[in-house]
Amino acid sequence: MKKFILFLLINCLITSSLISQNLQSPEQFLGYEIGTQFTRHADVVNYFEHVAENSNLVEYSTYGKTNENRQLTYATISSEENLKNIDEIRKNHLSNAGVNTNNSGNQADKAIVWLSYNVHGNEASSTEAAMQTVYELVTNKKEWLKNTVVIMDPCINPDGRDRYANWYNQVKASPYNASLLAAEHHEPWPGGRPNHYLFDLNRDWAWATQVETKARLKIYNTWLPHIHVDFHEQSINDPYYFAPAAEPFHEIITPFQRDFQAEIGKNHAKYFDEKGWLYFTKERFDLLYPSYGDTYPTYMGSIGMTYEQAGGGQAGLGIQTTEGYELTLVDRVAHHFTTGLSTVEIASQNVEKLNSEFNKFFQNDQLSYKSYALNGSADKIAALKSLLDLHEIKYGATNSGKIKGFNYSQNKQADFNTNENTLVINTNQPKGKMVKVLFEPNTKLSDSLTYDITAWSLPYAYGLEAVASNKLLNNTQADSYTSIVNNASNASGYISKWDSMEDARFLAALLKEGIKVRYSTLEFENEGQIFNPGSLIITKSDNRTLKDFNTKVIQIANEHGRQLTAATSGFSKSGPDFGSSEIKIINQPRVGVLRGEGVSSLNFGEIWHFFEKDLHYPITPIDTDYFKNIDFSLIDVLVMPSGGYNSLLNEEALKNIKSWIKEGGKVIAIGDAVGSFSGKEGFNLKENKPEIKKDTTATANLIPYATRERESIKDLITGSIIKTTLDKTHPMAFGYGDSYFSLKLSSDSYSYLSEGYNIAYLEDSPEVVSGFAGSEATKNMKNSMIFGEEQIGNGSIIYMVDNPLFRAFWENGKLFFVNAVFFVNNDTYRLKI
Ligand SMILES: [Zn+2]
Repeated sequence: MKKFILFLLINCLITSSLISQNLQSPEQFLGYEIGTQFTRHADVVNYFEHVAENSNLVEYSTYGKTNENRQLTYATISSEENLKNIDEIRKNHLSNAGVNTNNSGNQADKAIVWLSYNVHGNEASSTEAAMQTVYELVTNKKEWLKNTVVIMDPCINPDGRDRYANWYNQVKASPYNASLLAAEHHEPWPGGRPNHYLFDLNRDWAWATQVETKARLKIYNTWLPHIHVDFHEQSINDPYYFAPAAEPFHEIITPFQRDFQAEIGKNHAKYFDEKGWLYFTKERFDLLYPSYGDTYPTYMGSIGMTYEQAGGGQAGLGIQTTEGYELTLVDRVAHHFTTGLSTVEIASQNVEKLNSEFNKFFQNDQLSYKSYALNGSADKIAALKSLLDLHEIKYGATNSGKIKGFNYSQNKQADFNTNENTLVINTNQPKGKMVKVLFEPNTKLSDSLTYDITAWSLPYAYGLEAVASNKLLNNTQADSYTSIVNNASNASGYISKWDSMEDARFLAALLKEGIKVRYSTLEFENEGQIFNPGSLIITKSDNRTLKDFNTKVIQIANEHGRQLTAATSGFSKSGPDFGSSEIKIINQPRVGVLRGEGVSSLNFGEIWHFFEKDLHYPITPIDTDYFKNIDFSLIDVLVMPSGGYNSLLNEEALKNIKSWIKEGGKVIAIGDAVGSFSGKEGFNLKENKPEIKKDTTATANLIPYATRERESIKDLITGSIIKTTLDKTHPMAFGYGDSYFSLKLSSDSYSYLSEGYNIAYLEDSPEVVSGFAGSEATKNMKNSMIFGEEQIGNGSIIYMVDNPLFRAFWENGKLFFVNAVFFVNNDTYRLKI
């Protein structure tokens, strides 16, 4: 027996030494030195698999797939003993945050560090560094792993990374050319930064609109690390940035979170000083907007940090900087490698402190608002619930009668009536601080110098009535969803309401099936019910050639949870009958969307994603390269995303577009694209210019140089919430009420249209309900148009000064866009007949 045990022991020793002998460095495995070539994502995955197969200190898993079918992966790295008990370690850690886990009851005694690489695809040095880092951790830094678990996501954005790396590998000179002129330093549109749908994944953590984010949050929530690092790159002439971050900090960030950032920063500084590498801290990268890879983890209890290396999509394998030295990929990798390891080192030295402070973070009894209560349509509440589910934020139902508190729609303290459908989210839960960040009416700004949006309050974003209460509201389990089932009938038509994206998806699905649908431009009464303008009407008569009309309509309605009203007659008790010209047919529009050079890739991506992933309706992307030669008869709608169109829209092009509109075409111009039509011949649009001061004598500029940046923000709006007045009788506003809270993203301002319709607009004293808006910029907003329609001949041009599809999170703005596509001036065949 003893012999047998000895045999086993020897066998074990041989196996484990074989394992470590087989483990190869990235260079041995890939066949080139890290930093001398950009590694394809598939090879990065291969290397991590190799490490996991040949080291007992690594587990490697896939957590999802990208839009282009690349693997999303993460490695869990710790001592062999820890990995054996990894689930218990994880549960003890979550218990420490107050999350129920059925754990063993043991104290959390490990540090959890999460390193996220390459969120911006063309900031490609960090994934290379990830391979070196994992190798170093499991070979030379094993000591740290005794009390530390490191989770590495080697590439958050594989589609973007490969877009960049594949392009670079194709065009680079051999050996690489460091001249700024070389093609390898000029990435073509849209660049490798965003994901497949051209979303910036470092703006998507809180809204989780993208597959990468959704998949990541699932595993992120199973860990909630103590420390989270998001690796980036900045322009080639900036050196290295690491924490501590810049003001403004969100007020919920604890003193410990601030202090520990500085502690980590000092550890990095030690290594950088030793090597003589430059760095800066406390500037530029603030901690406010909750959807970044540093803030989101911070609001979930982490020390969340961004590290920025000089480089990015311009840098390639080597580039001559304007400061006179050559920046190489080898150097960029070395810096990210150093800060990654330094982070793990400092974590392993502070395990006890990290755990005790982590526990304190989740004590949420100091928050002044204890509950947020929301009323609104079932569809909008359901949309909000699915967002909360992604963050594992708990909610319930409350029927507490009349509540006092801050009333969002009135923008002041006022009563709020709850009912059996009121949704309530309390802050006395582990994620209470994130609840505050996402729901509070107005984020406190310690400094207004930030260049991202300063307002995102979810009740406004989802178009819900809401109250923030200082009292904790009773909270019962929210009703689970009961599915709506429509039964077959012999109705002469069906009626369905119109006020949500689910209604819009229903319409898109009907049109795709070739079912003809109408909408009412006026209120009407049928079957004892009042239907608002915008309500959909699907008649047997319009669809008489369709054999299985009833079955099809009912099946699609059930799939979308729509409650149909079966109308036995087209005769309305009041309002238009089904045959009235006020009940307009909805043609199936062929939608072209401009993309390419000159177009904002982000806005094009938002529109592309909206149609394909949200509405499920096809589009035809049209490149600006060949736009001037297109056959306009192949599209009904042209969407012009934000962008600079000065060279594209020359006199001739404008003439072509205009004559197409006259024939019944429709242009939807968004954001900056609106400006392309301002003051142009034949278009009614004009900029809202501030009054020019009468005194034209030159005045001395006594603004101190040091305050120049602060002074300039008076003219800025970078994202605040503003109350607009609506013309709810216009088809573009169907499904909305008398007002709408718009996310204002710029200080662009246009006068009311003198011909055409002003659909959403600001009056004499624009009311900014949340976020920062510069004093001058706010003044210039007076009496300006936000959404407008100008009719030209049989067609229209629709101006959307604010972009309702911004980052796909402003849920309540999306229906304007749907209305613009499907309702506004979309029944031209009647005119032609
Ligand atoms: Zn970045």
